[in-house]
Amino acid sequence: MQNKAGMPPKPSIQNDLLGGKHLHDPVPSGDELPIHVKIESAYRLFNRIEQELRSDKEFSRLLKDYERSIELSQRIMRELKLDRDCAFCATQVPGGGCCGRGIEDWYDIYTLLLNLFLGTAIPTKRLDPNDCLFLGPSGCKLRARFHFCVNYLCPRITKRLNPQELLELTTQSGAELFLAWRLESILRIKTDTSTLKTCLE
Ligand code: SF4
Repeated sequence: MQNKAGMPPKPSIQNDLLGGKHLHDPVPSGDELPIHVKIESAYRLFNRIEQELRSDKEFSRLLKDYERSIELSQRIMRELKLDRDCAFCATQVPGGGCCGRGIEDWYDIYTLLLNLFLGTAIPTKRLDPNDCLFLGPSGCKLRARFHFCVNYLCPRITKRLNPQELLELTTQSGAELFLAWRLESILRIKTDTSTLKTCLE
């Protein structure tokens, strides 16, 4: 991410991390669709597959681990006062912050779906025309976030934190993203192409 004046193209690492399935057996992800269509599709898909996934022991266990990992990430952010700094920069500094309009388009249906499994409603009203759709008054309203949102640290942060703090933060981000990847892999395997196509229509 960078400041709101110039959004970079969507990072592509996520599509390379999907257990190989995405590379060899393309399943529609609706990546190209407008975000409001992806959100509606995620809710439709959630209604179709929630019961089956909730009764999947591996998925349920990973989901609990993921929730705990997100909480730990948030705790570290609070302890380092990053939540306060990032929310202030994003919402109060003109042209500041990294959560600019358009980043919501980087989200695919699976990350949105993970939010629904975590009981997190997906915002549909933008706070400010220049902001990401998912930015709230005190920071990001999503719990399952795109890898770039989890990983990105602006130069102000990297200069302020000491090496030990940076290590703690990036290690925890990696742990959180690893669990997200494992859950997404299960979602992709369990979501057959015809169900997904129907939900994306
Ligand atoms: S999804 Fe959340 S963290 Fe990512 S840009 Fe939007 S508000 Fe910021």
